[in-house]
Amino acid sequence: MCGIIGYCGPRRAAPLLIEGLRRMEYRGYDSAGICLGAPGGLALIKTAGKVKALAEKVPADLEGNCGIGHTRWATHGLVNEQNAHPHTDIQKRFALVHNGIIENYLSLKQELQAEGFVFQSETDSEVLVALLTGLYRGDLEKAVKEALGRVEGTYGLACLCIDEPGLIVGARNGSPLVVGIGDGEMFLASDYNAMIAHTRQVVYCEDGEVITLTASGFRTTDLANRRIEKSIDHIDGTGAEAEKAGFPTFMEKEICEQPESVDRAMRGRLSRETGSAVLGGLNMSARELRSVGRIRILSAGTSYYAALAACYMIESLARIPSTAELASEVRYANPLVEPDTLFFVISQSGETADTLFALRELKRKGARVLGVCNVVGSTIAREADGGIYIHAGPEIAVASTKAFTSTLTAFLLFALSMARSRDLSLKAGLALIDELSAVPGKIQSLLDRRQDLDLLAQKYLWAGNFLYLGRGINYPLALEGALKLKEISYIHAEGTSSAEMKHGPIALINESFPTVMILPQDSLRGKNISNLKEIKARQGKVIALATAGDEEISSLADDVFFIPPAEELLNPLLAAVPLQLFAYYLARRLGRNVDQPRNLAKSVTVE
Ligand code: GLU
Repeated sequence: MCGIIGYCGPRRAAPLLIEGLRRMEYRGYDSAGICLGAPGGLALIKTAGKVKALAEKVPADLEGNCGIGHTRWATHGLVNEQNAHPHTDIQKRFALVHNGIIENYLSLKQELQAEGFVFQSETDSEVLVALLTGLYRGDLEKAVKEALGRVEGTYGLACLCIDEPGLIVGARNGSPLVVGIGDGEMFLASDYNAMIAHTRQVVYCEDGEVITLTASGFRTTDLANRRIEKSIDHIDGTGAEAEKAGFPTFMEKEICEQPESVDRAMRGRLSRETGSAVLGGLNMSARELRSVGRIRILSAGTSYYAALAACYMIESLARIPSTAELASEVRYANPLVEPDTLFFVISQSGETADTLFALRELKRKGARVLGVCNVVGSTIAREADGGIYIHAGPEIAVASTKAFTSTLTAFLLFALSMARSRDLSLKAGLALIDELSAVPGKIQSLLDRRQDLDLLAQKYLWAGNFLYLGRGINYPLALEGALKLKEISYIHAEGTSSAEMKHGPIALINESFPTVMILPQDSLRGKNISNLKEIKARQGKVIALATAGDEEISSLADDVFFIPPAEELLNPLLAAVPLQLFAYYLARRLGRNVDQPRNLAKSVTVE
């Protein structure tokens, strides 16, 4: 969601800003813009739509070595050029980009309008520009601090002033911001991917910090003007992972990476000696882990469905009561923090605002909160008491795929280690390790048959609605399968438990409302078959995901895709892949932009 980029240095800023915005496109956005201190004044170029369209509007010879850029994910005001960032005052003395929401913008706007400031957009962000123009007395950093003292809400921001060329002031409260230290040049961005081609030396900004940047360095202070010493982190990776590597889309690439990404989530963490998993980052002693009496997992979107499945894993293996909850709900529910409860928060990006704020609320109450994240060094990873990195590699497509299966894998390892410190035998632990080790190969065998799913998608291209059903640990998979389809194809789909169908959704079933059923050979197979027959009795079409060799399902369903046999708790890791591919091929055949579906953002940094 929303990308901010800033550059100060000897080079021409415009191409660097555009390149930075391109590298953050995956975050999801609807408009883009840049502003730089050019010889004749501030040069402002904006557009509704893609960075490509913005790049076409930028003159090749545009001068200026210091500037800011933005990709907007609209929260306040329509998606149009006027509302795109950067925002400037009428005199074009100040330019500002903002990620987040200024919650008291309306009262501020009315007050500033009464004072004579003329607003040019419908955004909440523009009040920050208005405040700066009123407060500026020759010191941008000071004016920013005073302005921020008047706003409520969340922000990552960067701004510049024509009177102080070569200077950018940034600030953070709730939205990510990272400084990049180059050789005689400095960057500021929402995400280090924006500058990975130019520097690996980064400094993560924390909430309440103001960053003042010039080509030769930066300083960090708080709103009360106290100096803050920062440490420098080194980023690994080349940025090459963020290329499509011959695949037509990032989403297909990421789906196809799952044999490796699931393997990476396990690598070095399984011990045959103890029949258990070793998770070094939990920062908890064996005794502390042993005294956990309840687990609560907080998250949003696809991570929430991973959390639901994780609860099945933990309860059935380790027999610890576990619940999955929406972070956005827990945060405002005055959450109870019991002493023996261990909390988890899951966020691929590690920046999800709903999840981050829930984490902070829980920590404020003294809870122990572990993070399950993909992005190393992300805000949630830094603020949690410990956790598990899923090591899925960069996930660029907006709809999550490999992060989902890697999160499930991480929780299986956690469940195994908790189970082994309780009642699970060494033999059972070793058996699970064997099963887990076989998963990457089984996923590969599914991918090898992916053309069958493309044909299936082609066959069901006519459908305007889908029902997804599953039961037990596959109930969350039904929810995830439906979400994936909605996200990228815009076809309406809903998921529920196979058992719940008769309590309502069955009213929808007819010959034009097909159902995708996750129906492996598990303890609930017989119950699922009854539900399948209930659908067939109402002329509904059924596409079943069944276990290889289960020929009875072929005779009952209209179409079947077989998944390899596996231990019951591991079925979701296998079922996820055909669900992702089915949604993917349907969306592709409908001509959708699968990597950047409309209205969605990758890293959801607003509440
Ligand atoms: N709230 C601001 C707007 O609607 C910023 C949105 C964003 O984070 O991109 O323009």
